[in-house]
Amino acid sequence: DRLVAGSADGEDQAVEAALRPKSLDEFVGQERVREQLDLVLKAALARGATADHVLLSGAPGLGKTTLSMIIAAEMGAPIRITSGPAIQHAGDLAAILSSLQEGEVLFLDEIHRMSRPAEEMLYMAMEDFRVDVIVGKGPGATAIPLELPPFTLVGATTRAGLLPPPLRDRFGFTAQMEFYEPVELERVIHRSAHLLDLEIDAEGAAEIAGRSRGTPRIANRLLRRVRDYAQVKAEGYINRDIASAALQVYEVDERGLDRLDRAVLGALLKLFGGGPVGLSTLAVAVGEERETVEEVAEPFLVREGLLARTPRGRVATPAAWAHLGLAPPPRSPG
Ligand code: ADP
Repeated sequence: DRLVAGSADGEDQAVEAALRPKSLDEFVGQERVREQLDLVLKAALARGATADHVLLSGAPGLGKTTLSMIIAAEMGAPIRITSGPAIQHAGDLAAILSSLQEGEVLFLDEIHRMSRPAEEMLYMAMEDFRVDVIVGKGPGATAIPLELPPFTLVGATTRAGLLPPPLRDRFGFTAQMEFYEPVELERVIHRSAHLLDLEIDAEGAAEIAGRSRGTPRIANRLLRRVRDYAQVKAEGYINRDIASAALQVYEVDERGLDRLDRAVLGALLKLFGGGPVGLSTLAVAVGEERETVEEVAEPFLVREGLLARTPRGRVATPAAWAHLGLAPPPRSPG
């Protein structure tokens, strides 16, 4: 379990409920999404109708679950939470859909990982609030139509492009969640510190925000680690020095790179002169699986502009040399 992973671990799940904003006003950042969603919800309320289906796309930890709960709260509706991988058979989905209350919000996380038959059942449910339940097998099978109460589906996915177009088209509103700016993460951190009854100054919050990879979940997690350190070493008070010393202990650097990220970058620079080098060679050099390097470390390094994936292999950017405090080799003439 990495401290800088966007996805939730067990500890996050226990604490996150307490830290989730409860209304659109409390939700930090994502101005455009908030503004548009506010209109969608208010218009539905004014019409006395259920809100359109909403698709939220974006990396883990950016607030998709939180927004779905806010949608339910703003509509004064109950919410049911499930995920694509939890729905193996169309029957699983039929059971959920048929037990929804009128106006209920159904949050379907990782909607791109639903099974095909369930997905096809969902098309009809979204459009006509109706499903056909197939009873029996082979030539004797019959479809029994089942009316559903109107509901609002909130689907979440890491990338909208992963969804088949017929599914994507059935959402009335699609929001692309972006990574957060450091100042926004500072607000998230101040808000969480307040809820957790912690004392933190502006510089302490900035220090944590800068290492949080644009992700509120990571910001909250780092804040908790810094809190532990501050309690033991500084009577609970968090300032820049405390935050930085704490995160040094946890090996999360100023830019949010952890030990694995630095190992990959370090090998690329020190062993291969900054590349190009093949993925497999690089993975062997850091003693990791190819997939770990490619899927766990590289996406953030690429996003940060420290590493480029080229047809000839992995290449370090000038920023990578600067970040590790190394001098790039002199350019060969020509
Ligand atoms: P996702 O569903 O996208 O993985 P979550 O909604 O579970 O992300 O959010 C992860 C954590 O980050 C939650 O504890 C939530 O409180 C916090 N969080 C996410 N977005 C925001 C935000 N805009 N403002 C404040 N806290 C946020």
